[in-house]
Amino acid sequence: MHALEIRNLRKTFGSVEVIPGADLAVEPGEFCVFVGPSGCGKSTLLRMIAGLEEPTSGDILIGGQRVNDLPPAKREIAMVFQSYALYPHLTVAGNLGLALKQAGTPRAEVEAAVKRAASMLALEPLLQRRPAELSGGQRQRVAIGRAIVRRPKLFLFDEPLSNLDAALRGQTRIELARLHRELGATMIYVTHDQVEAMTLADRIVVLNAGRIAQIGSPMELYNRPANRFVAGFIGSPS
Ligand code: ADP
Ligand code: MG
Repeated sequence: MHALEIRNLRKTFGSVEVIPGADLAVEPGEFCVFVGPSGCGKSTLLRMIAGLEEPTSGDILIGGQRVNDLPPAKREIAMVFQSYALYPHLTVAGNLGLALKQAGTPRAEVEAAVKRAASMLALEPLLQRRPAELSGGQRQRVAIGRAIVRRPKLFLFDEPLSNLDAALRGQTRIELARLHRELGATMIYVTHDQVEAMTLADRIVVLNAGRIAQIGSPMELYNRPANRFVAGFIGSPS
């Protein structure tokens, strides 16, 4: 069974067709990166998978179940954006545990889950701090931790590193790769950064104006680009 499947997924805004019809299957445990220039429809595609945007037509299946009619909270996904909206009045521990707490999870279980996520992301020394007392990189690690705590079937990342400086971006990228190995989770990761795509992905989906230009491993795309767009995009330095 596919972790995610989209079938002939279309999205128009008014008369503008942003996604003309996309088909894709992502396998369990896969790190799948959507890459393409700004405005090509990456976020729109991800937001439809998350349930934040309604498709014009087509189907979305998560773990074999059609989720078109399910609200985001019922889709067993966790999404991390580039603007990590943490609750300023809560500590790091409070932010990490909030979703579980709201779901009525017993306190001991919440604490254990928070501890586990904090240890995976080296956040233990920061658990009692508030977001204002953290660096940008630390805040983004908390946002990633918040996704982990919920143990979703599917992680969705929308350019999660683009607000970080280059050094931090590199470091967080390595952490994400390690997390993916440790969790064995399915991850869909959107970026316009070729280096991120090449280093993180099991498989890359190259988007061009809402269309899938090519799907393949980093090496396949690099060695055998399907067309000039892919060759130019994957080959050019970022
Ligand atoms: P990307 O994430 O690849 O930069 P987006 O998915 O954000 O691209 O946007 C794809 C296209 O859809 C862009 O042309 C954008 O202007 C348009 N678009 C996105 N959201 C909306 C919206 N809510 N209303 C109208 N147009 C939108
Ligand atoms: Mg975007």
